Amino acid sequence: MQKNTLGKTGIEITHLGIGTLTMSPMQRGLNVEDGAAVILHALQSGINFIDTAQMYGSYPQVEAALRQWRGARPVVASKSAARTREAMKAAVEEFLQQTGLDFADVFLLHAVRDEQDFAGRSEALAFLLEARDRGIIKAVGASSHSALTIDMLGRNESIEVLHPMYNRDGIGILDASLADMTSFLQRARSNGKGIYAMKPLGGGQLRNDAVASLRWVLASGVVDSAVVGMTSVDEVNLNVKVARNQEVDIDFARKVAGQPRKLFINTMVCINCGACIKTCQQSALKPGDKSPQIDHRLCVLCGYCAPVCPRFAIRII
Ligand code: SF4
Ligand code: SF4
Repeated sequence: MQKNTLGKTGIEITHLGIGTLTMSPMQRGLNVEDGAAVILHALQSGINFIDTAQMYGSYPQVEAALRQWRGARPVVASKSAARTREAMKAAVEEFLQQTGLDFADVFLLHAVRDEQDFAGRSEALAFLLEARDRGIIKAVGASSHSALTIDMLGRNESIEVLHPMYNRDGIGILDASLADMTSFLQRARSNGKGIYAMKPLGGGQLRNDAVASLRWVLASGVVDSAVVGMTSVDEVNLNVKVARNQEVDIDFARKVAGQPRKLFINTMVCINCGACIKTCQQSALKPGDKSPQIDHRLCVLCGYCAPVCPRFAIRII
């Protein structure tokens, strides 16, 4: 599979990476053994890039896969929404402890909203940069759904890697158009930033046209890699075929597309506190009489709302 160097970091990643949100307890909730088997199959199929996050709860699946893997060490990226130095230090320690790795290849500020939010995480960023100088992290970056924020981050010297929302239909891209995002990524790339795409299938919304959608992102010329959440061997096989530019059987692609997933709020336990509404960057949640109303057209299944719910009322099913 094609490999690209992630900006100026010197880190080589495959054009396709495996994302671990969909297999995590936040979404499909594969058990450790089953999640590890999918990651292991991805590694055996030529993928060398695994994306995870503190929020996902998928470190045990990553650890179990790495323990069984006999090939070269893959590249592992993680992220944390920690805002303080202490919280980010704890996040990095949690990553190392739970994955069994002695360093993180890439560590990101997770889901930066805007310039003010970025400024509010300066202590956390300072810790990541110190950790990089000590060799605990190889590259530091940030993820965002916002095109303007990606442009701002792309101009920041401390940020080496960008993880933007990016897909063919512009699903979930905030604050500017898909064309704007593309030109911001082109500029960031020419400034030496490494870039890997988030939600190339629009959080599942493009699943019925997954082959063309993934091909579009990989051929865009503005990303070093695209990470796709995968929960089965079939999904891995399909995406690997696309990344290798191989023919894909339409019936097989239809079978893999499977059933749509949706956000679900358990109204029996929701106390209508509104915390999820404030957290959702996509404006997919609106106040309702007994619980928030979900606009499924706007929801990209990022899962950011679930951890803030005091009643564990939010699921993706
Ligand atoms: S409703 Fe939740 S999962 Fe959907 S976009 Fe908003 S934060 Fe993400
Ligand atoms: S955060 Fe949880 S309890 Fe609060 S409104 Fe949202 S679903 Fe309900």
